[in-house]
Amino acid sequence: MCRIFRCFLAALLLFSLTACGSAPAPGSDGPSQPEEASAQSDASGAPSEEPQETPAEPEKPEPEPYTILDPTVMPEGGSRDGVTYAAYDGVVEHLFFHPVVAYPELAFDGDYKSDGIDDWMVTAGEYLKILESVYEKGYVLVDIADCWSEQTNEAGETRMVKNTLYLPEGKKPLILSYDDVNYYEYMLENGFTYKLIIGDDGKLASWGLDPEGNEVISRDLDAVTILDKFVEEHPDFSPFGAKGCLSLTGYEGILGYRTQTDKDNWTAEREARRQEEIEAVKPIIAELKRTGWTFGSHTWGHISLNTRTYETVTADMRKWFDEVGSLVGDTTVLFYPFGGRLDGDDVQQTGPAFQWMQQQGFRIFCSVGIDSWSKCKSDISAVICDRLHPDGTTLRSAKARERYMKFYDAKDIIDLSVRPQREVGWA
Ligand SMILES: [Zn+2]
Repeated sequence: MCRIFRCFLAALLLFSLTACGSAPAPGSDGPSQPEEASAQSDASGAPSEEPQETPAEPEKPEPEPYTILDPTVMPEGGSRDGVTYAAYDGVVEHLFFHPVVAYPELAFDGDYKSDGIDDWMVTAGEYLKILESVYEKGYVLVDIADCWSEQTNEAGETRMVKNTLYLPEGKKPLILSYDDVNYYEYMLENGFTYKLIIGDDGKLASWGLDPEGNEVISRDLDAVTILDKFVEEHPDFSPFGAKGCLSLTGYEGILGYRTQTDKDNWTAEREARRQEEIEAVKPIIAELKRTGWTFGSHTWGHISLNTRTYETVTADMRKWFDEVGSLVGDTTVLFYPFGGRLDGDDVQQTGPAFQWMQQQGFRIFCSVGIDSWSKCKSDISAVICDRLHPDGTTLRSAKARERYMKFYDAKDIIDLSVRPQREVGWA
């Protein structure tokens, strides 16, 4: 792989991924200064405003048991449930998504967000077709944290090493990750779901409003619940119970709950409201973890790690640990906002911000690229890796269509009947 081309691509992505989240232009302070953080809680917080102990409230059913297994251990006798397992040491593919578009008519309504959503997101329908295709092509889900582990070498140094995975024979491993699973304010009016909740059946569902303003609780409109349902229907897609890794910022809360602080106009009332949101999100986090989802950091303020100073990066991450890590628990996975590599480069060097992150416990550092490249660093216990990005840019590109053919044919996935009328490279 040509390093220069990769750098060029990284620069291109960096520039273009500003569409990701409610992200600012590079250099601006946009997301780290959420101006409207207080009003939004009310708009999206309806379910959590219910009194907590209403006698009429029906009991949620006991959740079905959910088994999570370790793919680095060969099942006893080499088989499980009649399926033969085999060692796998090849590439572990890694695809990442942003929140999916629930209502294309709101997302692609021609406002200033339409093209950004077209570039960096897929619709719920396209996403389901992608899942169906990777399933048909023999991929099985593995959790990112199971793909490498820390070992001590002969020199007594700890280093990350790639794990041998034991997969159902003939299957290929696939990591899924999901950036910005925060339900940003701008998304709510642009055709996305508002938050994750636990439905009356005890399962995770999304809550939101349809274009007519009606409340909708569904499992078919959100990337998380669509995958949950898909795995229920195709359990062999996730032989170890893995789902995906959710990459969270903190500046507008997490998972649709406004758990963030705001340095301006903080009042006792706002803090009380925040504490309610924190209590409301806890069972969601617990259910996600129980059913195979894991969490990673996407920084608190969606900051560009390649350009910000060491002081800015560490202050931002302290806030992430305080407000997000305190809720989702320890994680070893860091997802670079805009794909921007720590200290401007983490391939040729291990800079001070990278070292600091590693000291905080991060071991897996994810950027964005044109393949599922990864490298265990030799000078520090860390692995750096790239992820592929199914979205409008790659669905429309002729070159990307070739590269993604091992997962799906973009022609079969892209829904041009709902997307803006923009160029398609392979048409
Ligand atoms: Zn992002």
